[in-house]
Amino acid sequence: MECVRCGGGAYYTRRYSGEVLCAACFKASIVEKTRKTISRFSMLRYGDKVGVAVSGGKDSLALLRILHALSEKKRYELAVLTVDEGVEGYREESIEHSAALTKELGLEQVVVSYKELYGFDLDHALAWKDEREISSCSMCGVFRRRAIDEAAVRARVTVIATAHNLDDYVQTFMMNLMHGDVDRLGWTDPRVTDADFPLRRVKPFMEIYEEEVALYAHLSGLPFQSASCPYMHEGLRSEVRDYLNELEVGHPGMKNVLLNSALSIASKLSVSKSPSPVPCTLCGHPSSAGLCNVCRMKQLVEQHTKYTPE
Ligand SMILES: [Zn+2]
Ligand SMILES: [Zn+2]
Repeated sequence: MECVRCGGGAYYTRRYSGEVLCAACFKASIVEKTRKTISRFSMLRYGDKVGVAVSGGKDSLALLRILHALSEKKRYELAVLTVDEGVEGYREESIEHSAALTKELGLEQVVVSYKELYGFDLDHALAWKDEREISSCSMCGVFRRRAIDEAAVRARVTVIATAHNLDDYVQTFMMNLMHGDVDRLGWTDPRVTDADFPLRRVKPFMEIYEEEVALYAHLSGLPFQSASCPYMHEGLRSEVRDYLNELEVGHPGMKNVLLNSALSIASKLSVSKSPSPVPCTLCGHPSSAGLCNVCRMKQLVEQHTKYTPE
């Protein structure tokens, strides 16, 4: 078996297309796919300052490396945005990974912590938490998005890029269906800006399978974090992930089909757009309701932990 592009030794077979590639051509194909996605959805513009959300996990390190490679031709600037959720014994390692790559590429990094922003870290916020009320990942996700927004403001970026891949996108779409959240289906259109988050947010990996991002990271020598988050509890999402992976084994390309269906539905629904934002009555951030998600979540934590801000 030979690489269809260069005739070199076969390394990887893309099951859904039958394409056989050597390691170098596989890596090149991921860079190329990312470039095409950026251009297909007009994600980045000339002169943009792109804040790359880098947790230090393999996906975000891969995104940073690829955007950096593309930035010379595309003429945009990069900054690294990192959130320290405050999870003892877990977060330090990935923050080191993110700092090392930032330094290697000669970029600026802004780190924002939950502690400085909310007065408590994730360890504290989850100490009380009852699984029946809300999953740890959805709570942490609300805080993290606001923290990334804050880092973006400090770094003065014009757009935020996150490493969400095709699998993440399709999982979210399916979960919105399962929750009956039809409005949210429209908001997942890559051209729509979420009311709660006024800065443009883009997902340059949204057309790339998770396993291919992982393989790219591996071939690029990017570090893998040894431990996973101790609070990882995604509930339904992990069931949806397993189900989609099973489907893909029996029907190669099924995830691509689902992505295209999701995009097409989202673009039809997004005509109505997300509701016009109103300022949150507590923090003033643009919000879709009177109280933004972050403030509601903070209140929940404060009630349960009797936390009083100084
Ligand atoms: Zn090749
Ligand atoms: Zn608020």
